[in-house]
Amino acid sequence: MEGLKRVPVREQAPKVRAANFEEVCLGYNQEEAVEEAKRCLQCKKPLCVQGCPVAIDIPGFIGKIVEGDFAAAYQILSDSSSLPAVCGRVCPQESQCEGKCIRGRKGDPVSIGKLERFVADWAKENGIKPKKADKLNGKKVAVIGSGPAGLSCAGDLAKWGYDVTIFEALHEPGGVLTYGIPEFRLPKDAVVKPEVENVKSLGVKLETDVIIGKSVTIDELFDEEGFSAVFVGSGAGLPMFMGIPGENANGVFSANEYLTRSNLMKARLDDYATPMPVSKKAVIVGGGNVAMDAARTALRLGAESHIVYRRSEAELPARAEEVHHAKEEGVIFDLLTNPVEILTDDKGWVRGIRCIRMELGEPDASGRRRPVAIEGSEFEIEADAVIMSLGTSPNPLISSTTAGLDVNKRKCIVAEAETGKTSKEGVYAGGDAVTGAATVILAMEAGRAGAKGIHEFLSK
Ligand SMILES: Cc1cc2nc3c(=O)[nH]c(=O)nc-3n(C[C@H](O)[C@H](O)[C@H](O)COP(=O)(O)OP(=O)(O)OC[C@H]3O[C@@H](n4cnc5c(N)ncnc54)[C@H](O)[C@@H]3O)c2cc1C
Repeated sequence: MEGLKRVPVREQAPKVRAANFEEVCLGYNQEEAVEEAKRCLQCKKPLCVQGCPVAIDIPGFIGKIVEGDFAAAYQILSDSSSLPAVCGRVCPQESQCEGKCIRGRKGDPVSIGKLERFVADWAKENGIKPKKADKLNGKKVAVIGSGPAGLSCAGDLAKWGYDVTIFEALHEPGGVLTYGIPEFRLPKDAVVKPEVENVKSLGVKLETDVIIGKSVTIDELFDEEGFSAVFVGSGAGLPMFMGIPGENANGVFSANEYLTRSNLMKARLDDYATPMPVSKKAVIVGGGNVAMDAARTALRLGAESHIVYRRSEAELPARAEEVHHAKEEGVIFDLLTNPVEILTDDKGWVRGIRCIRMELGEPDASGRRRPVAIEGSEFEIEADAVIMSLGTSPNPLISSTTAGLDVNKRKCIVAEAETGKTSKEGVYAGGDAVTGAATVILAMEAGRAGAKGIHEFLSK
């Protein structure tokens, strides 16, 4: 039957890309995009839109691609999303819009993510910007954090005429998009920076190197800086560790630190002096998307790269596409394996990791089969770098310096999903700071909800 298969997307060959930091996926050209867009059935009740957390008019923008009107397609995208070039690259489309696509019932779903990316890239190349508000309403809103939650919230508020300032702790904006997700999945100069510039082009001001809770507090933003509302989109950047012996050794990193050194501090480039170990063999502990990013980064930095994960392949929490790419590039998976100790040399540097073999028992509270250690099966893996990728939680700095801001026992800020409203009057929150580590698009959805909540609050 016609149209069952999607138009294939070009990628760098595995052997070539394993040795460089260039983007793996090369995206569609104009002809490929139009051909793929024609596969969209233009459903009257589009399920794909229901599957999109920010409810993009997907048939609408795809219809414009078919007509060859890419500028109109971009305006439809930017009505709902401040970061279409980012989302087209890193959203888990297979479980969202594409997971609901009717085409997927008897063949491949429409490549919605690749089409979104094509339109956003085309708009950038042709200098097309999102529409700005006609006039300002004179009300000042502060946004804490310039990740996807903060950028989305700021973008929507600016479009509605608010005077928005984003305060960012780091020297570069973008949050995880800049410091976490590697260049080979999300290029910084070509994709992240232009989308941040688009948000700024709406009139949003950006102040970097400002740590809210240290440089200035939320109460001071209200009382001394004249802000009428605050949105907290400070993410979940605090890494978790296992608590096993040797975790403080030199050569042990959290995945966030390892990726920050490579991405934000550019340690992967010869002309930057950021300290970064050139390891021969790196062990990455964990099986999520962050672990895959760290493993693929270590590989590109010249190491033999091993994922150590305590369950089996079926339980790996990473996206299937990420696991597939990691394997293609040569990452080695040591599954049903759990670290018990990090081994060090007499100078305190990592020399290996002692592990125990696991088997799967009964399902646990998460519904996944519980890993159980096999007695007497301990063994050692030689390694000169160990990268812990076990998840992150919100940094308590903001909650601990803001009286009246409630957090739950995981230190996540308590906020209403529909509006981002918190326990403190005028303070709204969303993204990983509220949910714990999640996804770009969920953070964007929360940023938009926060903007709506703030707009309602300031319109009273
Ligand atoms: C390595 C990695 C890979 C990922 N890959 C994907 C993926 O492929 N697809 C996907 O959908 N999701 C992915 N995620 C998850 C996704 O990136 C996050 O869920 C998302 O970025 C959360 O957005 P956020 O705006 O809430 O927070 P963040 O992106 O964390 O941004 C928060 C910002 O707030 C700043 N900040 C923190 N505290 C303060 C303060 N006190 N004052 C001022 N600023 C502050 C931080 O510096 C940061 O810039 C990945 C995450 C990581 C770590």
